[in-house]
Amino acid sequence: MAKVIIIGAGGVGSVVAHKCAQLPDVFNEIVLASRTESKCKAIAADLPRPVKTAQIDADDVAATTALLKAEQPDLVINVALPYQDLAIMDACLAAGVDYLDTANYEPPEEAKFEYKWQWAYQDKFTSAGRMALLGSGFDPGVTNVYTAYLKKHYLDEIHYLDIIDCNDGDHGQPFATNFNPEINIREVTANGRYWSNGDWQETGPLEENRSFDFPAGIGPKQIYLMYHEELESITKHLPEIKRARFWMTFSDNYLKHLEVLGNIGMTSIEPVEFEGKEIIPLQFLKALLPDPASLGPLTKGKTCIGCIARGVKDGVEKTYYIYNICDHEECYAEVKSQAISYTTGVPAMIGAKMMLERKWAGAGVWNMEQLDPDPFMEDLNKYGLPWQVVELNEQTGMED
Ligand code: NDP
Repeated sequence: MAKVIIIGAGGVGSVVAHKCAQLPDVFNEIVLASRTESKCKAIAADLPRPVKTAQIDADDVAATTALLKAEQPDLVINVALPYQDLAIMDACLAAGVDYLDTANYEPPEEAKFEYKWQWAYQDKFTSAGRMALLGSGFDPGVTNVYTAYLKKHYLDEIHYLDIIDCNDGDHGQPFATNFNPEINIREVTANGRYWSNGDWQETGPLEENRSFDFPAGIGPKQIYLMYHEELESITKHLPEIKRARFWMTFSDNYLKHLEVLGNIGMTSIEPVEFEGKEIIPLQFLKALLPDPASLGPLTKGKTCIGCIARGVKDGVEKTYYIYNICDHEECYAEVKSQAISYTTGVPAMIGAKMMLERKWAGAGVWNMEQLDPDPFMEDLNKYGLPWQVVELNEQTGMED
């Protein structure tokens, strides 16, 4: 029996609220808090049981601490934006509450995708006897757990890791991002980076690409090398990995729009002056683009996110592919969200469940690959994100 506060009432917050509400034995009491309380109330009205809502500006550490002290939850599930991570971690420490998020802290003024700020909280969480679980979404999140699972059960050592994220969904809009546009575009327009023999190699934004043949009828798609934050933690915790890369699919249409927007400066996070006021072009663009939550009823097709790991087992080289297929329309039928929010929100709920059931426990700051993958993998199968592992015996196209 436990009480959680979910902070953030966007696409992901809505899925987390639905999935927690479906498990009253674990999530006995739920409070949904966000900057705009009306969004919390709209989500609450759709849930199978009553949940409390609250207004909170999570950038305000004192206000968040006061809310936590008043509500006394066992855990905060932070699904606001990456900018709020450190403020919410501070409030959790001040109020003596455990913490979970789905994305690394980002300083608002520069796109970094680094864990250093949150890893610096290690001593504070350890000495407070509290746990912080970082990156419990799909990628990061499930991809870290997949890697740990392959290492535990299939390979003695992983030498080459490719994380491949495919969204084969179609929302019928000329241009839209399927999660927070600001975060999404920051990620996609940043330089690519991958781990190779103990160092980071940099590429231009989406410079390196190739075709990959996806399962479940999705077929061949162009995948683009990007930097993604789980590469940093996975290569830190599995130092045997010689090369680790992250790839994502993008449609030609998406890339064409992005190129034009980039060329005219609309994706920049440098402030510009407009009619006497400073604005950030990317934030202005976000205001013009469709709200990702509005894409739910429109999106058809599947996502396929997984890891290909090549390494050795008993001295023999082996390659395994572990992945999940998720259907946008099935997600919408269950929780009124498309698969991108669903594939993030379900692992956030499961990470929270692991902590509340003490299957994952320990003071300090944790990344997902550091914890026992088995109970989490079991719950993925139970709560909507079934996975499979296949051995790949032929060339996959990812060897070089
Ligand atoms: P949305 O933009 O849809 O929702 C963000 C929510 O956070 C909104 O309700 C917003 O409030 C709220 N919020 C923003 N600032 C504050 C603040 N200062 N105080 C309180 N609430 C605030 O984003 P998503 O739901 O798509 O994404 C949520 C998180 O999930 C992000 O951190 C994102 O990076 C992460 N994510 C992780 C993935 C993974 O696989 N690991 C994949 C996809 C997303 P308001 O309504 O007032 O704007």
